[in-house]
Formats: sequence, structure tokens, C-alpha cells
Amino acid sequence: MTDIELARDLLSRSRRVVGFSGAGLSSESGIATFRDRQTGLWARYDPHELASPAGFARDPGLVIDWYSHRRRVLDGALPNDAHRALAERVDITHITQNVDRLLEKAGATNVLHLHGTIDLDRCHAGCGYREAVDLADPPELRTCPRCGGLLRPAVVWFGEPLPDRVWSDAVAAVKGADTLLVVGTSGAVYPAAGLVDLARASGAAIVVVDAEPRMSTADVMLVGKAAGIVPQLLDQ
Ligand code: NAD
Repeated sequence: MTDIELARDLLSRSRRVVGFSGAGLSSESGIATFRDRQTGLWARYDPHELASPAGFARDPGLVIDWYSHRRRVLDGALPNDAHRALAERVDITHITQNVDRLLEKAGATNVLHLHGTIDLDRCHAGCGYREAVDLADPPELRTCPRCGGLLRPAVVWFGEPLPDRVWSDAVAAVKGADTLLVVGTSGAVYPAAGLVDLARASGAAIVVVDAEPRMSTADVMLVGKAAGIVPQLLDQ
């Protein structure tokens, strides 16, 4: 059996498949991962430093400008074949680290966004104010109309805690999984990456699809691009 056949077999025998994705799932839709070399104006900045409370404290305008750039890129982005193949399987619960909504654009409804979504702003001072953002015309740095704090994207930055409810739903989904289908994540960002260890400890098989895998925990490791491999795994 080839590795693809092995993975197809595992997936077809599973009653509960959970998808766990990272930036690599969206890279063939034109969204750079944080490990890719950034392009243009942003090439000299480290995304890990911009996507952090310390980066925002240092230069909030710069961080918002970077998000405006990312929001415009996302506005024009379309789901790729991997998003579509995942979305077609309505029985799969999707846990994603991605802040884009390309799985939903492909038709998926059951998506847990561990790191929030980029189409919302929230008050950084913590008053609870939230506001939808037009990705085509993203706002500049502005203050919260409720408390005067600064508004920022409603995403989880490096060093920030994950939203409790989403995390507990993700843990429950992973604990009940027969197979975890991991797509395009380095497994380097915690606590999200801990879901793979939890799935394994709970008895699930782990199938990994990644262009340059760094993860060692896999029953089947498929090396290559998501848009080519994922449809081969899930087509019935
Ligand atoms: P990462 O950048 O750490 O890892 C990306 C992984 O995807 C790598 O292992 C890489 O080899 C793989 N990859 C790249 N292109 C691929 C392809 N075409 N097919 C299959 N695999 C491919 O990303 P991460 O693990 O998601 O974690 C970093 C953080 O970056 C997360 O918190 C996430 O929220 C954030 N992020 C999100 C987006 C997005 O929403 N689309 C984009 C960039 C970063």
C-alpha cells in the first residue's frame, strides 16, 4: 500500500475525523505563512514580533498597518482544493489556527478558530467591545468608542491565552476523534500544537500533510502540498 492509500484507508474506517490545520492550508490561496519570507514593504519585519502584545505596545500603528495589508490580501483570496475537499466532508470538525475564513468560504460550517479571525476588531483594553471589519477597506489605528482604549484585530497573538470556550470545544473534539488529519502546521505554536499529542494519547491515528514537515508524531506522514494531497485523501 502507498502512504496515500494507507491514509485513505485509515480515514475511511474512522467514525470521527477531526481536521487540524495551520497556515500551510491557506498558502496555496496566496496567504503567506509566518515562516515564509514576507514580501514587499513587510520583508524587513518579523511577523512573530508584529503579532504580539509587545509589538503592539511598541508601535501600534505599525501593527495595524501590517494587519491592513494582511486584510486586503485576504479579501481577494479564494479557497483552494484542500479547503474545498475538507469542507465537502460535513462530518469533519475543523480546528484551525488560521485567522482567515477560507474553510467557511469553501462551505464548511463546523470550524473552531483557535486563534480568532481577522475580520473582527476588539478593544485591547479589555472592555469587551467588538466590531466587524471590512477586509477590502480596513480601518487605521483607532480608539474604542466604548472606553477609549485602542482597537486591535480579534486574533490571538503570540503569548496570549486562547479563548476558553473554543479551546474546550477543540479538546473535546480531539478526545473523541478516531483520526486527526493535520494539514499545514509546523506544530511549533503552543498550546494549539498540544492537540496533536492529546489526540494520540486519546487513541487517535495521526495523518499529517505538510510540504516540509517538522512534526515527528504521525502514523502516516504525507510530504507535499495540501491542495494536491488533501483531495486525494477525502474524495469518496
Ligand atoms: P507555520 O507557519 O508555523 O507552519 C506552516 C506549515 O505549513 C509548515 O510546516 C510548512 O511546511 C507548511 N506548508 C507551507 N505550505 C504548505 C502547503 N502548500 N501545503 C502543505 N503544507 C504547507 O504556521 P502554523 O503552524 O499555522 O502556526 C503559526 C501561526 O501563524 C498560527 O498562530 C496562525 O494563526 C498564524 N498564521 C495564520 C495564517 C492564516 O490565517 N492563513 C497565515 C499565517 C500565519
